[in-house]
Amino acid sequence: MARRESRAVKRERLALILDRLASAYPDARVGLDFTTPFELLIATILSAQCTDERVNVVTKSLFAKYRSPADYVQVPVEELEQDIHSTGFYRNKAKNIQACCQRLIEHYHAEVPMTLDELVTLPGVGRKTANCVLSNCFNIPGITVDTHVTRIMNLLGMVNTTDAVAIEFELMKLLDSERWNAMNHSIITHGRRTCIARRPQCGVCPIADLCPSAQ
Ligand code: SF4
Repeated sequence: MARRESRAVKRERLALILDRLASAYPDARVGLDFTTPFELLIATILSAQCTDERVNVVTKSLFAKYRSPADYVQVPVEELEQDIHSTGFYRNKAKNIQACCQRLIEHYHAEVPMTLDELVTLPGVGRKTANCVLSNCFNIPGITVDTHVTRIMNLLGMVNTTDAVAIEFELMKLLDSERWNAMNHSIITHGRRTCIARRPQCGVCPIADLCPSAQ
């Protein structure tokens, strides 16, 4: 595989990779449990530095107790901290969730806005969370650059940086927007099942022949 591939060649290779991964993981979907955009927003804030499995355990009771932005701002912050404690960084997350809900109430009629520019004005919400909500709730194309996408896109030679925003913008050039949402799920699932951090299963990897890092 040529070391300095043109963007056009990379685009072709990435399209092939995603075709293969779509076949390999037809069940790929977002790992967080939610029933509304607001629930996914809260779950995504909680997922920072935490596994989706742990977040799903916490949100099961959290979403039964807190149903609207008003519910989150009405409790003492210490109570919310206790309710989300096991997701880690609970003080910061509780503070952000309350500030986020306050802003939703004051500026967005307690609804989750549907644009990236508006979403990133919410405390605790960066481009990753915003794109996750847009793509999974509103079917608006958005590239979610998490730890799996960062690691695997570097291993695949699609990018050469760990800067999430730089990765997002480069992938936007490498992939047509109608494939962005499926890409998120395919790559994240590949990272969980096969291209696992520090122990990639290259021997059984469905894209090994397209990967410059295959061992
Ligand atoms: S070949 Fe190995 S390093 Fe490359 S994507 Fe597959 S598991 Fe990851």
